[in-house]
Amino acid sequence: MYPPEFSYVRAESLQEALKFLEGNDNTRPLAGGQSLIPMLKLRVLSPDYILDINRLNELNYVKTSLNGVSIGALTRYHDILSNDILKSKVPLMHHATRTIGDMQVRNMGTIGGAISNADPASDMPVVLTALNATIILSSVSGSRSVKALDFFKGPFTTDTNKGELVTQIEVPVLDGYKTVYKKVVRRAGDYALASVALAIKLKGNEIEDIKLAYGGVHDKPFRAMEVEKNVIGKKLDDDLVKDIASKVSSQVNPPSDHRGSSWYRREVVKVLTMKAFKEVA
Ligand SMILES: Cc1cc2nc3c(=O)[nH]c(=O)nc-3n(C[C@H](O)[C@H](O)[C@H](O)COP(=O)(O)OP(=O)(O)OC[C@H]3O[C@@H](n4cnc5c(N)ncnc54)[C@H](O)[C@@H]3O)c2cc1C
Repeated sequence: MYPPEFSYVRAESLQEALKFLEGNDNTRPLAGGQSLIPMLKLRVLSPDYILDINRLNELNYVKTSLNGVSIGALTRYHDILSNDILKSKVPLMHHATRTIGDMQVRNMGTIGGAISNADPASDMPVVLTALNATIILSSVSGSRSVKALDFFKGPFTTDTNKGELVTQIEVPVLDGYKTVYKKVVRRAGDYALASVALAIKLKGNEIEDIKLAYGGVHDKPFRAMEVEKNVIGKKLDDDLVKDIASKVSSQVNPPSDHRGSSWYRREVVKVLTMKAFKEVA
C-alpha cells in the first residue's frame, strides 16, 4: 500500500529539528525508518510532516559518562554492536542487539527510533527497563529525563510530549553483575514471541541484587519488581528459579496474536526464565 500524503522536511541541526517540532503538531521524526515507513504504508499513521533527522550527527555517539554510558538517539544498532565500550561495559545491550532483525534492519535502525516506537515485543525497551536506564528528551525549552520504567506507557505509547525529541539514553554500568538476554522467535530475525533480560549480582550463591525484565508478554516491557524484592538474600537454587518462573508467568498479561496465544507465551516465559538463570548460575 502507498503511504498517505505528507510533506518531507530535513533538519540540518538539533535546534532546527526542535524548532520545527515546536511549530508543527502532527510531525513524525524519521530516523532509520524501519518502523515508521511500514506504519505509513499500512496507514496506521498519517502525519502532515515527516521530519528527517538523519543529518543530526550530534546525536550519533557512544561515550562514557559519570554514571555509565551515554548513547545518542541516532546511534544505529550496527554501531551499538561494534562499539567496544558497550561490549565491555553493557554486555546485556550488546547481546540483545545481536538478536534484532537482520543486517539491513541493524544498519538503519536507531536506538532512539526503537524506544520511541515502543513496540511491546521490541528488544531494546526490555534491556533499558532491566538496566533502569534514563531517557533524555529535548525541546526548544530545554531537556528533561525520564526513567525507562516510566517512559514506556503502553503499546506504541511513550511519555513524549508535544515538541520533544528523544536525544540521549543513559545506561548505568552494572559492576559485578552477570547478565543474559534470551528471546524466542518464530523465525530468525523476527520480533520476540517472548524475551527476558536478566542482570544478577551473587554473593556466593546468594542473590545480592537482581534486575529482571520481559518483552512480548505485556502491554509494555514488564519489570518483575515484586519478584525481585522477594528473592534478594535468598539462595539461588532450582526450587527458587522454578518459583520465580511460575510467579512471573502468572503476573504478565500476554497478548494472543499470530505469533502465539496468551497461554503459550506464559509457558514460554517459564522456560525462558529457567534458561536465563541456568546461564548465570
Ligand atoms: C524486518 C524487520 C525486522 C525487525 N525485527 C526486530 C527485532 O527482532 N527486534 C526489535 O526490537 N525490532 C525489530 N524491528 C524494528 C526495528 O528495531 C526498528 O528499527 C525500530 O523499531 C525503529 O527504529 P528506527 O530508527 O528505524 O525508527 P523509525 O522507524 O524512523 O521511527 C520509529 C518511530 O519513532 C519515532 N522516532 C524516531 N526517532 C525518534 C526520536 N529521536 N525521538 C522521538 N521519536 C522518534 C518516529 O517518528 C516513529 O514514530 C524490525 C524491523 C523490521 C523492518
